[in-house]
Amino acid sequence: MNEHPRRVDVAIAGAGAAGLALALAIHRDSGGALRVAVIDPAPDRMIRPGRAYAIAGAARRFLDRIGVWNALAPQAQPVWRMRITDSRLRDPVRQERLAFAAADEPLAHILDESVLLAALRSAAADLQIRPIAAGVAALHSSAAVIHLDLSDGGRIGAALLAAADGARSPSRDLAGIRTVGWDYGQTGLVAEVAHERDHGGEAVQHFLPDGPFAILPMTDRRSSIVWTDSRANAEVMLALRADDLAEELDRRFGAELGSIRLATPLAGFPIRYQVARAFVGDRVALVGDAAHVVHPLAGQGLNLGLEDAEALSARIIEAARLGLDAGDPQALARYERGRRAAAVAMGVTTDLLNRLFASDATPIRLARDLGLGVVDRAPELKDFFMRRAAGHSAMV
Ligand SMILES: Cc1cc2nc3c(=O)[nH]c(=O)nc-3n(C[C@H](O)[C@H](O)[C@H](O)COP(=O)(O)OP(=O)(O)OC[C@H]3O[C@@H](n4cnc5c(N)ncnc54)[C@H](O)[C@@H]3O)c2cc1C
Repeated sequence: MNEHPRRVDVAIAGAGAAGLALALAIHRDSGGALRVAVIDPAPDRMIRPGRAYAIAGAARRFLDRIGVWNALAPQAQPVWRMRITDSRLRDPVRQERLAFAAADEPLAHILDESVLLAALRSAAADLQIRPIAAGVAALHSSAAVIHLDLSDGGRIGAALLAAADGARSPSRDLAGIRTVGWDYGQTGLVAEVAHERDHGGEAVQHFLPDGPFAILPMTDRRSSIVWTDSRANAEVMLALRADDLAEELDRRFGAELGSIRLATPLAGFPIRYQVARAFVGDRVALVGDAAHVVHPLAGQGLNLGLEDAEALSARIIEAARLGLDAGDPQALARYERGRRAAAVAMGVTTDLLNRLFASDATPIRLARDLGLGVVDRAPELKDFFMRRAAGHSAMV
Protein backbone atom coordinates (compact mmCIF):
# COMPACT_ATOMS: atom_id res chain seq x y z
CA MET A 1 0.00 0.00 0.00
CA ASN A 2 1.27 3.44 -0.93
CA GLU A 3 0.26 6.22 1.49
CA HIS A 4 -0.20 9.83 0.41
CA PRO A 5 -1.24 11.32 3.74
CA ARG A 6 -1.95 14.62 2.09
CA ARG A 7 -4.20 17.54 2.58
CA VAL A 8 -4.27 20.00 -0.33
CA ASP A 9 -6.42 22.89 -1.51
CA VAL A 10 -7.03 21.46 -4.99
CA ALA A 11 -6.65 17.84 -6.09
CA ILE A 12 -6.50 17.58 -9.88
CA ALA A 13 -7.42 14.24 -11.48
CA GLY A 14 -5.67 14.04 -14.87
CA ALA A 15 -2.20 15.12 -15.97
CA GLY A 16 -3.23 15.88 -19.56
CA ALA A 17 -2.80 19.39 -20.95
CA ALA A 18 -5.88 20.79 -19.17
CA GLY A 19 -4.98 19.31 -15.76
CA LEU A 20 -1.34 20.37 -15.86
CA ALA A 21 -2.20 23.89 -17.08
CA LEU A 22 -4.66 24.22 -14.19
CA ALA A 23 -2.00 23.12 -11.68
CA LEU A 24 0.46 25.69 -13.06
CA ALA A 25 -2.15 28.47 -13.09
CA ILE A 26 -3.23 27.89 -9.48
CA HIS A 27 0.38 27.77 -8.33
CA ARG A 28 1.25 30.93 -10.20
CA ASP A 29 -1.91 32.92 -9.45
CA SER A 30 -1.68 32.16 -5.72
CA GLY A 31 2.08 32.77 -5.56
CA GLY A 32 2.50 29.15 -4.42
CA ALA A 33 0.18 29.67 -1.42
CA LEU A 34 -2.45 27.15 -2.56
CA ARG A 35 -1.33 23.52 -2.51
CA VAL A 36 -2.19 21.29 -5.46
CA ALA A 37 -1.83 17.55 -6.05
CA VAL A 38 -2.09 16.02 -9.52
CA ILE A 39 -3.21 12.40 -9.81
CA ASP A 40 -2.99 10.31 -13.00
CA PRO A 41 -2.63 6.54 -13.46
CA ALA A 42 -0.49 7.16 -16.57
CA PRO A 43 1.27 10.49 -15.91
CA ASP A 44 4.01 9.80 -18.49
CA ARG A 45 1.67 8.21 -21.01
CA MET A 46 3.05 7.76 -24.47
CA ILE A 47 2.17 10.70 -26.64
CA ARG A 48 -0.31 9.98 -29.44
CA PRO A 49 1.85 10.05 -32.62
CA GLY A 50 0.73 12.53 -35.26
CA ARG A 51 -1.52 14.41 -32.87
CA ALA A 52 -1.16 18.20 -33.08
CA TYR A 53 -3.17 21.14 -31.77
CA ALA A 54 -4.17 24.49 -33.24
CA ILE A 55 -3.64 26.83 -30.31
CA ALA A 56 -5.73 30.02 -30.55
CA GLY A 57 -4.61 33.46 -29.34
CA ALA A 58 -6.38 33.35 -25.94
CA ALA A 59 -4.90 29.92 -25.12
CA ARG A 60 -1.44 31.08 -26.25
CA ARG A 61 -1.59 34.11 -23.94
CA PHE A 62 -2.63 31.83 -21.07
CA LEU A 63 0.26 29.43 -21.80
CA ASP A 64 2.55 32.46 -21.76
CA ARG A 65 1.18 33.66 -18.42
CA ILE A 66 1.74 30.25 -16.80
CA GLY A 67 5.33 30.24 -18.01
CA VAL A 68 5.41 27.64 -20.80
CA TRP A 69 5.10 29.61 -24.03
CA ASN A 70 8.82 30.51 -24.22
CA ALA A 71 9.68 26.81 -24.32
CA LEU A 72 6.96 26.14 -26.91
CA ALA A 73 7.48 29.10 -29.26
CA PRO A 74 10.47 27.72 -31.26
CA GLN A 75 8.44 24.64 -32.18
CA ALA A 76 5.10 26.36 -32.73
CA GLN A 77 4.24 27.15 -36.35
CA PRO A 78 2.28 30.40 -36.75
CA VAL A 79 -0.69 30.18 -39.13
CA TRP A 80 -0.74 33.34 -41.25
CA ARG A 81 -3.48 32.43 -43.64
CA MET A 82 -6.36 29.99 -43.81
CA ARG A 83 -8.12 28.87 -46.95
CA ILE A 84 -11.51 27.20 -46.97
CA THR A 85 -12.75 25.20 -49.94
CA ASP A 86 -15.57 22.77 -50.56
CA SER A 87 -14.63 21.62 -54.08
CA ARG A 88 -15.13 17.99 -54.96
CA LEU A 89 -11.93 15.95 -55.13
CA ARG A 90 -12.47 15.42 -58.85
CA ASP A 91 -12.80 19.20 -59.59
CA PRO A 92 -9.83 20.35 -61.70
CA VAL A 93 -9.59 23.68 -59.83
CA ARG A 94 -10.20 24.02 -56.09
CA GLN A 95 -12.15 27.19 -55.79
CA GLU A 96 -11.45 29.17 -52.64
CA ARG A 97 -14.70 29.92 -50.78
CA LEU A 98 -13.30 31.92 -47.93
CA ALA A 99 -9.84 33.07 -46.92
CA PHE A 100 -8.62 34.57 -43.67
CA ALA A 101 -5.31 36.40 -43.45
CA ALA A 102 -3.67 37.30 -40.15
CA ALA A 103 -3.54 40.99 -39.29
CA ASP A 104 -1.87 41.85 -35.98
CA GLU A 105 -1.22 38.31 -34.74
CA PRO A 106 -1.21 34.79 -36.25
CA LEU A 107 -4.60 33.10 -36.65
CA ALA A 108 -3.29 30.24 -34.46
CA HIS A 109 -0.11 28.28 -33.73
CA ILE A 110 0.20 24.58 -34.55
CA LEU A 111 1.96 22.48 -31.92
CA ASP A 112 2.83 18.81 -31.61
CA GLU A 113 1.09 17.18 -28.66
CA SER A 114 4.46 15.77 -27.55
CA VAL A 115 5.99 19.27 -27.44
CA LEU A 116 3.07 20.73 -25.50
CA LEU A 117 2.94 17.95 -22.89
CA ALA A 118 6.72 17.89 -22.44
CA ALA A 119 6.76 21.66 -21.73
CA LEU A 120 3.85 21.42 -19.27
CA ARG A 121 5.41 18.41 -17.50
CA SER A 122 8.76 20.13 -17.20
CA ALA A 123 7.23 23.41 -15.89
CA ALA A 124 5.25 21.40 -13.30
CA ALA A 125 8.39 19.48 -12.24
CA ASP A 126 10.23 22.81 -11.79
CA LEU A 127 7.55 23.76 -9.23
CA GLN A 128 7.84 20.34 -7.51
CA ILE A 129 4.39 19.36 -8.85
CA ARG A 130 4.91 15.66 -9.55
CA PRO A 131 1.83 13.68 -10.52
CA ILE A 132 0.92 10.77 -8.26
CA ALA A 133 0.75 7.64 -10.45
CA ALA A 134 -2.68 6.39 -9.38
CA GLY A 135 -6.34 6.74 -10.34
CA VAL A 136 -9.17 8.13 -8.26
CA ALA A 137 -11.07 5.08 -7.02
CA ALA A 138 -13.68 6.58 -4.65
CA LEU A 139 -14.90 9.95 -3.37
CA HIS A 140 -16.47 10.91 -0.01
CA SER A 141 -17.55 14.47 0.72
CA SER A 142 -17.88 16.03 4.15
CA ALA A 143 -18.75 19.65 4.94
CA ALA A 144 -15.29 21.12 4.43
CA VAL A 145 -13.37 18.50 2.48
CA ILE A 146 -13.63 15.96 -0.30
CA HIS A 147 -11.71 12.73 0.38
CA LEU A 148 -10.20 10.82 -2.54
CA ASP A 149 -9.36 7.12 -2.22
CA LEU A 150 -6.64 6.36 -4.74
CA SER A 151 -6.15 3.11 -6.65
CA ASP A 152 -2.76 2.59 -4.95
CA GLY A 153 -4.35 2.66 -1.49
CA GLY A 154 -3.40 6.29 -0.76
CA ARG A 155 -5.85 9.00 0.40
CA ILE A 156 -5.99 12.70 -0.26
CA GLY A 157 -8.23 15.33 1.31
CA ALA A 158 -8.92 18.50 -0.70
CA ALA A 159 -11.17 21.56 -0.62
CA LEU A 160 -11.87 20.93 -4.33
CA LEU A 161 -11.47 18.07 -6.79
CA ALA A 162 -10.88 19.33 -10.34
CA ALA A 163 -11.73 16.48 -12.70
CA ALA A 164 -9.52 16.88 -15.79
CA ASP A 165 -9.40 13.15 -16.50
CA GLY A 166 -10.61 13.21 -20.10
CA ALA A 167 -13.79 12.43 -22.02
CA ARG A 168 -14.51 9.20 -20.09
CA SER A 169 -13.71 10.95 -16.77
CA PRO A 170 -13.92 8.33 -13.98
CA SER A 171 -14.05 11.18 -11.42
CA ARG A 172 -17.08 12.71 -13.14
CA ASP A 173 -18.83 9.34 -12.85
CA LEU A 174 -17.83 8.99 -9.19
CA ALA A 175 -19.27 12.46 -8.55
CA GLY A 176 -22.55 11.31 -10.14
CA ILE A 177 -22.50 13.89 -12.96
CA ARG A 178 -24.09 12.64 -16.18
CA THR A 179 -23.44 13.73 -19.74
CA VAL A 180 -25.55 14.24 -22.86
CA GLY A 181 -24.35 13.93 -26.44
CA TRP A 182 -24.21 11.87 -29.56
CA ASP A 183 -21.83 9.99 -31.80
CA TYR A 184 -21.18 11.56 -35.20
CA GLY A 185 -20.48 8.21 -36.84
CA GLN A 186 -17.26 9.85 -38.02
CA THR A 187 -13.61 9.14 -37.26
CA GLY A 188 -10.86 11.76 -37.05
CA LEU A 189 -7.79 10.40 -38.84
CA VAL A 190 -4.61 12.19 -37.82
CA ALA A 191 -1.01 11.99 -39.01
CA GLU A 192 2.00 14.12 -39.68
CA VAL A 193 2.95 14.57 -43.33
CA ALA A 194 6.36 15.74 -44.60
CA HIS A 195 6.34 17.67 -47.90
CA GLU A 196 8.75 18.92 -50.51
CA ARG A 197 7.65 22.59 -50.65
CA ASP A 198 7.16 25.16 -47.95
CA HIS A 199 3.59 25.80 -46.80
CA GLY A 200 4.23 29.49 -46.11
CA GLY A 201 2.24 29.24 -42.86
CA GLU A 202 -1.02 28.52 -44.71
CA ALA A 203 -3.68 26.19 -43.34
CA VAL A 204 -6.30 24.59 -45.58
CA GLN A 205 -9.73 23.35 -44.55
CA HIS A 206 -11.28 21.28 -47.32
CA PHE A 207 -14.91 20.42 -46.62
CA LEU A 208 -15.81 17.11 -48.26
CA PRO A 209 -19.21 15.37 -48.04
CA ASP A 210 -18.01 12.77 -45.50
CA GLY A 211 -16.21 15.35 -43.37
CA PRO A 212 -13.53 18.05 -43.48
CA PHE A 213 -9.90 17.41 -44.41
CA ALA A 214 -7.61 19.92 -42.68
CA ILE A 215 -3.95 20.55 -43.51
CA LEU A 216 -2.32 22.42 -40.64
CA PRO A 217 1.20 23.79 -41.15
CA MET A 218 3.94 22.68 -38.75
CA THR A 219 7.59 23.66 -38.49
CA ASP A 220 10.20 22.19 -40.92
CA ARG A 221 8.09 21.48 -44.03
CA ARG A 222 5.68 19.29 -42.13
CA SER A 223 1.92 19.49 -41.83
CA SER A 224 -0.54 17.83 -39.52
CA ILE A 225 -3.67 16.42 -41.10
CA VAL A 226 -7.03 16.09 -39.38
CA TRP A 227 -9.05 14.04 -41.83
CA THR A 228 -12.64 13.48 -40.76
CA ASP A 229 -14.43 10.72 -42.61
CA SER A 230 -17.37 8.38 -42.11
CA ARG A 231 -16.45 5.54 -39.78
CA ALA A 232 -16.75 3.00 -42.62
CA ASN A 233 -14.43 4.98 -44.96
CA ALA A 234 -11.97 5.60 -42.12
CA GLU A 235 -11.72 1.88 -41.41
CA VAL A 236 -10.91 1.29 -45.07
CA MET A 237 -8.22 4.01 -45.00
CA LEU A 238 -6.67 2.65 -41.78
CA ALA A 239 -6.39 -0.80 -43.39
CA LEU A 240 -4.85 0.40 -46.70
CA ARG A 241 -1.38 -0.63 -47.84
CA ALA A 242 1.17 2.20 -47.62
CA ASP A 243 1.24 2.98 -51.38
CA ASP A 244 -2.59 3.00 -51.67
CA LEU A 245 -2.82 5.31 -48.68
CA ALA A 246 -0.19 7.60 -50.23
CA GLU A 247 -2.35 7.80 -53.35
CA GLU A 248 -5.44 8.78 -51.29
CA LEU A 249 -3.41 11.47 -49.54
CA ASP A 250 -2.04 12.77 -52.86
CA ARG A 251 -5.62 13.24 -54.14
CA ARG A 252 -6.50 15.29 -51.08
CA PHE A 253 -3.32 17.38 -50.92
CA GLY A 254 -3.22 18.30 -54.61
CA ALA A 255 0.10 19.41 -56.11
CA GLU A 256 0.82 22.62 -54.17
CA LEU A 257 3.18 21.19 -51.55
CA GLY A 258 5.06 18.94 -54.00
CA SER A 259 5.69 15.32 -53.15
CA ILE A 260 4.46 14.20 -49.75
CA ARG A 261 5.09 11.29 -47.39
CA LEU A 262 3.54 10.13 -44.13
CA ALA A 263 5.92 10.91 -41.26
CA THR A 264 3.82 9.10 -38.61
CA PRO A 265 1.30 6.26 -38.90
CA LEU A 266 -2.32 7.24 -39.52
CA ALA A 267 -4.31 7.04 -36.26
CA GLY A 268 -8.10 7.21 -35.82
CA PHE A 269 -10.20 8.81 -33.06
CA PRO A 270 -13.99 8.42 -32.88
CA ILE A 271 -15.79 11.79 -33.00
CA ARG A 272 -18.49 12.61 -30.46
CA TYR A 273 -20.29 15.58 -29.06
CA GLN A 274 -20.61 15.37 -25.32
CA VAL A 275 -21.35 17.91 -22.63
CA ALA A 276 -21.73 17.31 -18.90
CA ARG A 277 -25.18 18.12 -17.49
CA ALA A 278 -23.42 20.14 -14.79
CA PHE A 279 -19.84 21.44 -14.78
CA VAL A 280 -19.69 21.45 -10.97
CA GLY A 281 -20.90 19.32 -8.08
CA ASP A 282 -20.31 19.17 -4.35
CA ARG A 283 -16.62 20.26 -4.10
CA VAL A 284 -16.07 19.06 -7.69
CA ALA A 285 -15.42 21.03 -10.92
CA LEU A 286 -15.04 19.52 -14.39
CA VAL A 287 -12.29 20.81 -16.68
CA GLY A 288 -11.39 20.06 -20.32
CA ASP A 289 -12.75 16.98 -22.10
CA ALA A 290 -14.25 15.76 -18.80
CA ALA A 291 -16.69 18.68 -19.19
CA HIS A 292 -17.11 18.85 -22.97
CA VAL A 293 -16.07 17.12 -26.18
CA VAL A 294 -16.69 19.05 -29.41
CA HIS A 295 -16.24 18.17 -33.09
CA PRO A 296 -12.56 18.76 -33.98
CA LEU A 297 -13.31 20.60 -37.24
CA ALA A 298 -12.58 24.00 -35.68
CA GLY A 299 -9.64 22.71 -33.58
CA GLN A 300 -11.17 24.15 -30.40
CA GLY A 301 -11.41 21.21 -27.93
CA LEU A 302 -8.20 21.79 -26.05
CA ASN A 303 -8.55 25.56 -26.42
CA LEU A 304 -11.80 25.31 -24.49
CA GLY A 305 -10.05 23.12 -21.89
CA LEU A 306 -7.28 25.68 -21.42
CA GLU A 307 -9.88 28.44 -21.05
CA ASP A 308 -11.59 26.29 -18.38
CA ALA A 309 -8.29 25.97 -16.52
CA GLU A 310 -7.74 29.74 -16.65
CA ALA A 311 -11.29 30.50 -15.52
CA LEU A 312 -11.32 27.94 -12.68
CA SER A 313 -8.00 29.21 -11.36
CA ALA A 314 -9.35 32.78 -11.44
CA ARG A 315 -12.49 31.80 -9.48
CA ILE A 316 -10.40 29.88 -6.90
CA ILE A 317 -8.09 32.88 -6.36
CA GLU A 318 -11.05 35.28 -6.04
CA ALA A 319 -12.53 32.98 -3.37
CA ALA A 320 -9.18 32.78 -1.53
CA ARG A 321 -8.97 36.60 -1.46
CA LEU A 322 -12.35 36.63 0.31
CA GLY A 323 -11.08 34.07 2.81
CA LEU A 324 -13.14 31.27 1.22
CA ASP A 325 -11.81 27.85 0.31
CA ALA A 326 -11.31 26.49 -3.23
CA GLY A 327 -14.57 24.51 -3.15
CA ASP A 328 -16.74 27.52 -2.31
CA PRO A 329 -20.15 26.85 -3.94
CA GLN A 330 -20.60 30.43 -5.22
CA ALA A 331 -17.19 30.44 -6.87
CA LEU A 332 -18.01 27.10 -8.51
CA ALA A 333 -21.40 28.39 -9.67
CA ARG A 334 -19.69 31.38 -11.35
CA TYR A 335 -17.22 29.03 -13.03
CA GLU A 336 -20.05 26.91 -14.34
CA ARG A 337 -22.09 29.85 -15.66
CA GLY A 338 -19.26 31.15 -17.84
CA ARG A 339 -17.76 27.92 -19.04
CA ARG A 340 -20.85 25.81 -19.74
CA ALA A 341 -22.26 28.56 -21.97
CA ALA A 342 -18.96 28.79 -23.90
CA ALA A 343 -18.74 25.01 -24.37
CA VAL A 344 -22.35 24.64 -25.48
CA ALA A 345 -21.96 27.55 -27.95
CA MET A 346 -18.84 25.94 -29.45
CA GLY A 347 -20.59 22.56 -29.59
CA VAL A 348 -23.54 24.05 -31.47
CA THR A 349 -21.32 26.01 -33.91
CA THR A 350 -19.13 23.02 -34.83
CA ASP A 351 -22.19 20.79 -35.13
CA LEU A 352 -23.89 23.22 -37.54
CA LEU A 353 -20.75 23.59 -39.66
CA ASN A 354 -20.37 19.82 -39.86
CA ARG A 355 -24.00 19.43 -40.98
CA LEU A 356 -23.89 22.34 -43.42
CA PHE A 357 -20.82 21.03 -45.21
CA ALA A 358 -21.79 17.36 -45.04
CA SER A 359 -24.25 17.76 -47.87
CA ASP A 360 -23.35 17.39 -51.52
CA ALA A 361 -26.92 18.25 -52.64
CA THR A 362 -26.82 21.10 -55.19
CA PRO A 363 -29.24 23.54 -53.46
CA ILE A 364 -27.35 23.25 -50.18
CA ARG A 365 -23.99 23.69 -51.94
CA LEU A 366 -25.34 26.80 -53.66
CA ALA A 367 -26.74 28.25 -50.44
CA ARG A 368 -23.58 27.72 -48.43
CA ASP A 369 -21.32 28.96 -51.23
CA LEU A 370 -23.45 32.08 -51.45
CA GLY A 371 -23.19 32.49 -47.65
CA LEU A 372 -19.42 32.02 -47.68
CA GLY A 373 -19.13 34.47 -50.58
CA VAL A 374 -21.01 37.09 -48.54
CA VAL A 375 -18.72 36.54 -45.54
CA ASP A 376 -15.63 36.68 -47.77
CA ARG A 377 -16.61 40.10 -49.09
CA ALA A 378 -17.67 41.61 -45.74
CA PRO A 379 -14.62 42.69 -43.72
CA GLU A 380 -16.63 43.16 -40.48
CA LEU A 381 -18.02 39.61 -40.65
CA LYS A 382 -14.59 38.16 -41.38
CA ASP A 383 -13.14 40.10 -38.51
CA PHE A 384 -15.89 38.71 -36.24
CA PHE A 385 -15.11 35.10 -37.24
CA MET A 386 -11.38 35.62 -36.84
CA ARG A 387 -11.79 37.12 -33.38
CA ARG A 388 -13.99 34.20 -32.34
CA ALA A 389 -11.49 31.68 -33.71
CA ALA A 390 -8.66 33.42 -31.85
CA GLY A 391 -10.61 33.15 -28.60
CA HIS A 392 -11.00 36.93 -28.11
CA SER A 393 -14.60 36.50 -27.03
CA ALA A 394 -13.78 33.68 -24.63
CA MET A 395 -15.73 33.87 -21.40
CA VAL A 396 -13.00 33.57 -18.80
C1 LIG B 1 -8.89 14.15 -34.24
C2 LIG B 1 -8.85 15.22 -33.19
C3 LIG B 1 -8.16 16.43 -33.43
C4 LIG B 1 -8.15 17.46 -32.48
N1 LIG B 1 -7.52 18.64 -32.75
C5 LIG B 1 -7.56 19.67 -31.85
C6 LIG B 1 -6.96 20.96 -32.12
O1 LIG B 1 -6.40 21.22 -33.19
N2 LIG B 1 -7.04 21.94 -31.17
C7 LIG B 1 -7.68 21.73 -29.98
O2 LIG B 1 -7.77 22.67 -29.17
N3 LIG B 1 -8.23 20.51 -29.68
C8 LIG B 1 -8.19 19.50 -30.58
N4 LIG B 1 -8.77 18.28 -30.29
C9 LIG B 1 -9.35 18.07 -28.94
C10 LIG B 1 -8.26 17.71 -27.92
O3 LIG B 1 -7.56 16.55 -28.36
C11 LIG B 1 -8.85 17.43 -26.53
O4 LIG B 1 -9.78 18.45 -26.23
C12 LIG B 1 -7.74 17.41 -25.47
O5 LIG B 1 -6.78 16.42 -25.73
C13 LIG B 1 -8.34 17.15 -24.08
O6 LIG B 1 -7.36 17.35 -23.10
P1 LIG B 1 -7.68 16.98 -21.59
O7 LIG B 1 -6.45 17.35 -20.81
O8 LIG B 1 -8.99 17.55 -21.17
O9 LIG B 1 -7.91 15.39 -21.59
P2 LIG B 1 -6.90 14.19 -21.97
O10 LIG B 1 -5.83 14.64 -22.90
O11 LIG B 1 -7.77 13.06 -22.38
O12 LIG B 1 -6.18 13.85 -20.57
C14 LIG B 1 -6.86 13.16 -19.55
C15 LIG B 1 -5.84 12.61 -18.56
O13 LIG B 1 -6.58 11.97 -17.49
C16 LIG B 1 -5.92 10.77 -17.12
N5 LIG B 1 -6.83 9.85 -16.42
C17 LIG B 1 -7.60 8.86 -16.94
N6 LIG B 1 -8.25 8.21 -15.96
C18 LIG B 1 -7.92 8.82 -14.79
C19 LIG B 1 -8.28 8.61 -13.41
N7 LIG B 1 -9.09 7.61 -13.02
N8 LIG B 1 -7.75 9.42 -12.46
C20 LIG B 1 -6.90 10.41 -12.81
N9 LIG B 1 -6.52 10.66 -14.11
C21 LIG B 1 -7.03 9.86 -15.08
C22 LIG B 1 -5.37 10.23 -18.46
O14 LIG B 1 -4.26 9.35 -18.23
C23 LIG B 1 -4.91 11.53 -19.16
O15 LIG B 1 -3.58 11.88 -18.87
C24 LIG B 1 -8.81 17.25 -31.22
C25 LIG B 1 -9.47 16.03 -30.97
C26 LIG B 1 -9.51 15.03 -31.95
C27 LIG B 1 -10.26 13.74 -31.68
